[in-house]
Amino acid sequence: MAEDFDDVYFSNHNGLEESRYVFLEKNNLPQAWTTHPDRSFVIAETGFGTGLNFLATWQSFEQFQTKAQNLQLHFISCEKYPIAKSDLITALAKWPELSHYSEQLIAQYPDLFAGCHRLSFAHGRVTLDLWLGEASQVFLQMHNQANGYIDAWFLDGFAPNKNPQMWNTTLFQQMARLSKQGATFATFTAAGIVKRGLSEQGFIVNKTKGFGHKRDMLIGRFEQPDIERNTARYFQRHGILKTSSKPAKIAIVGGGLAAANLAMSLVQKGIEVTVMCKDSRFAQGASGNPQGGFYPQLNAEANISSRIQALAFGFASRRYHQLLDLGYDFAHQWCGVLQIGFNPKVIKRQQALLNNNVWPDSLIEYADETHASQIAGVDLPYEGLFIRQGGWLSPPELVKAMFKYAQHLGQCKINLNYFVTEIFKQDKQWIVNASAPEKGQNNSFDAVVVASGSDIQQFSFCDAIPYQLVRGQVEALPSQAPLQNLKTVLCHKGYMTPAIDGFHALGSTYVKQDTSCAYRKDEQTTNLDMHKKALANTSWANDIRGDNKGRAAIRCSLPDHLPTAGSLFDKQIQTAQYKDLYKALPLQKYEVADDLGGLFVLAGLGSRGLTTAPLLAELLASQICNEPLPLESQLLDALNPNRFLIKNLIRRVEP
Ligand code: SAM
Repeated sequence: MAEDFDDVYFSNHNGLEESRYVFLEKNNLPQAWTTHPDRSFVIAETGFGTGLNFLATWQSFEQFQTKAQNLQLHFISCEKYPIAKSDLITALAKWPELSHYSEQLIAQYPDLFAGCHRLSFAHGRVTLDLWLGEASQVFLQMHNQANGYIDAWFLDGFAPNKNPQMWNTTLFQQMARLSKQGATFATFTAAGIVKRGLSEQGFIVNKTKGFGHKRDMLIGRFEQPDIERNTARYFQRHGILKTSSKPAKIAIVGGGLAAANLAMSLVQKGIEVTVMCKDSRFAQGASGNPQGGFYPQLNAEANISSRIQALAFGFASRRYHQLLDLGYDFAHQWCGVLQIGFNPKVIKRQQALLNNNVWPDSLIEYADETHASQIAGVDLPYEGLFIRQGGWLSPPELVKAMFKYAQHLGQCKINLNYFVTEIFKQDKQWIVNASAPEKGQNNSFDAVVVASGSDIQQFSFCDAIPYQLVRGQVEALPSQAPLQNLKTVLCHKGYMTPAIDGFHALGSTYVKQDTSCAYRKDEQTTNLDMHKKALANTSWANDIRGDNKGRAAIRCSLPDHLPTAGSLFDKQIQTAQYKDLYKALPLQKYEVADDLGGLFVLAGLGSRGLTTAPLLAELLASQICNEPLPLESQLLDALNPNRFLIKNLIRRVEP
């Protein structure tokens, strides 16, 4: 029972039956799946609640799947008042026949903060985008494509007379904007406000017999050929897949975290992937350090950068746990990450973060001095913030595990020692030439993604992005007393990990415009001094010794410190398209962005790839496949490769 609304989530007696009748049967499911022309069937729901509708749909889809292997289910739901995980467990225990599905949902149930939390099940065949927020605002912030995304709507949510706020005109307008032609809807209510609201937006609305003793409910379809879909114009994202008829072939240039995550996401979506790595082994660039700290960088405000970090951390965390559960192993420790309040300014920032209450305790919590020392296992007289779900992972082992999984799951061809010399378009296909091509190798692709870290510099068409290359040296610090007792990742200006194979990782330097990977003793001194200074109150930091061992690599980062994923573009063409941007005309006056049509980039991960690469890769794979994107428009725009050009054009003073 939801006290605030004086209404129920579902009937304990026959809620599952009702869900199947109202939402599945009345949206003509599973029949509609048999004739569906696209790779993915997209359902959008208002009011996730306990996820009963989602689970019933997944179960029905799984039974249907035995007949049609290729279809994927994409379920989008929104929830303004998400229930706690403990309540979810109690509620779903009532449906033992769904336990196979509900256990997986519970395992992935996210931390409860606003935004799109993408959950992936059944090797990516089933996707749940759980958007936490007010329904109409969620759909308003959803990226759209030229023909809409949604095939069927489940209009749940408490009854209109008990929850009039949800059933508003914005919601109905957004439903029209996002619906494909012929999209269906079903809802338990027959209220006039819903009937009128949907009719006004181009839905054909009919009454039908309600469930059980309920007299009526509404069903219908969307028929409105010339709807203004209000696309993102200069930040519009184009994919390449039109139908499910033939699998697309995509080349990925790179061999680190970006490339591996992308291969995994694309293969899960049924794409044939060819990976081109210039080295004889994976992860030889910035993804090559033996240990990397895994945590989100959160600010006191839920600004763009920390929202991306928080959502990306959740997605990455679910992906890594899934890989481990599937038996794809890599060295790691979920030992938490302790962000140390090492000076008054940092302590003030940490207190603001706690006071603002934007992030749940399950994501980041306060630790006082005593607690900090207990967590760390060494004397640590500092308060701080603890990220319990964080830890460290071995990026090279993770990369290997992801490629292995991608190869096991689908078509993922891997070419090592493959140095790409040339990428160009010919007859709508992309040709990728290499210095030592394999015999008989097909070098023609539907699309190419540059995901090659600092090797982005080899491709002149990437010069439209103002990336910078930054050298970073990380020490391999021999384990020593009392540091060998360290059992969490410590973070201040730099970071230090618990030991693996007798070494702690301690980093890192940050040297702009320096692309040498040589190990440097003076940078060891810089690294050690940074730790000694930040941890000066401890009994041990001043004595830590280095051994002139470590590794330097080149990271690629962007001026705003956010990564990028999306289409590559011609700077001159977009400059001509948007030369009037400074006039701030209505959005519709601007053309939709021209891009290079099948050439994409995933870059600028800096030293944060463990946290951001999985979600950025999933975002790019979704874009390529014309599927709903796992982030709201504001965050998508902030990650768009053309954002720097657009910002400059907006700022230009009128001549
Ligand atoms: N579909 C759910 C299921 O399968 O378990 C049951 C939904 S329950 C009847 C209605 C849900 O709508 C509640 O969880 C409620 O918090 C949510 N809700 C109510 N108003 C909302 C709004 N304005 N935006 C998003 N969700 C809302």
